[in-house]
Amino acid sequence: MQEQLQRVHEQVLARNPGEREFHQAVTEVFESLGPVLTRNPEYVDAAVLERLCEPERQIIFRVPWVDDAGQVRINRGFRVEFNSALGPYKGGLRFHPSVYLGIVKFLGFEQVFKNSLTGMPIGGGKGGSDFDPRGRSNGEVMRFCQSFMTELYRHIGEYTDVPAGDIGVGGREIGWLFGQYKRITNRYESGVITGKGISWGGSLVRTEATGYGTVLFAERMLATRGLSFDGMRVVVSGAGNVAIHAIEKAQALGAHVVACSDSLGYVVDEAGIDLEVLRQVREVERLPVEQYAARRSGAHYVPAARVWQVDAQVALPCATQNEIDETDAKRLVDAGLLALAEGANMPTTPEAVALLQDAGVLYAPGKAANAGGVATSALEMQQNASRDSWTFEHTEERLAAIMAGIHDNCAETAEEYGDPGNYVLGANIAGFTKVADAMLALGV
Ligand code: GLU
Repeated sequence: MQEQLQRVHEQVLARNPGEREFHQAVTEVFESLGPVLTRNPEYVDAAVLERLCEPERQIIFRVPWVDDAGQVRINRGFRVEFNSALGPYKGGLRFHPSVYLGIVKFLGFEQVFKNSLTGMPIGGGKGGSDFDPRGRSNGEVMRFCQSFMTELYRHIGEYTDVPAGDIGVGGREIGWLFGQYKRITNRYESGVITGKGISWGGSLVRTEATGYGTVLFAERMLATRGLSFDGMRVVVSGAGNVAIHAIEKAQALGAHVVACSDSLGYVVDEAGIDLEVLRQVREVERLPVEQYAARRSGAHYVPAARVWQVDAQVALPCATQNEIDETDAKRLVDAGLLALAEGANMPTTPEAVALLQDAGVLYAPGKAANAGGVATSALEMQQNASRDSWTFEHTEERLAAIMAGIHDNCAETAEEYGDPGNYVLGANIAGFTKVADAMLALGV
């Protein structure tokens, strides 16, 4: 079985040359699946793995737009509709200059397993563009979003493919994207996109959900060792939507959050991050975190360095892929790291993950720990379908129950397969099994 797995693995890598992040995501999953295939040879007979690694549909399109100086610009748009065995394709859009097909495919692949773990009826997909929103005016970003949707609209739908946000795409962009969809189709199809504003079909808690969910997952993981966030020293990377809400929830649980970052550097505030100041700088004024340090006495800014220089008992990477390498992980372990939960997608390199696991650090992969965002998107779809809107309390309760369910499913699956506490194994096997069974049932 192991040989067969290796053969398929090699075929997948060879079939998708140059897509480093996609290779990384696939390799991690393949490393977990040996025992499942041994127990379930029908997956092998039906070539489930080969089918799972080939997106059902990949769309690449031109996105022309006009900048404020009147110059025509061109970007590339992507939507990878990865797997629809469990429901309509579901996953965010990322606008960032690093975006190319390999990034969208890694994110789409991860999304299939993540969405399966939520227990909600959603398949997996992802999209985005190499457009860089940094330094662009409101008008430019709006025109870009409109042009992006002018192509994308024909591929999406409540029952087909439901995008949302990711890096570079927040509530503002979702509004412009949805507005253009509505304009073109003349249909108020709320369920075609998630992350909408509250007054126009959005769900309470959706904004908070990824960050809150990551902390709720980490809380339950800590509890398996009799630990809690109370008094825990926490370092968060990033300073966007996921990071801000992870900080908020960790603080609410009594944690002492001392640092966060952006792509330019990090800030340390030993008195504890002041969320009000951070929000003003990041969400209202859209400025680098350096400004936080400038406004808070006692805080300091370190340019061009990673936040993992700061000692932590709990690390919450909430920025982007491969932001913690082996050296960072070793430093954190030597400084007493107890747990790491990923708010971002694949922020820890494979070597760093191995090091953390060998050192006995509790480690939660993003596909499990950050699934609260997409799970709450599915709750938004539910509210849209029933033309209802739930209270904050009810929605947060649902989120908490979903995160507890994902945690316990991963933990129990890891135990069942003989490696208790291995959340990577648990997440990959539990996520895979549900999708694989649906694929078998639906035929080739
Ligand atoms: N981009 C988020 C993720 O990585 C959310 C996707 C969604 O809500 O559809 O899961």
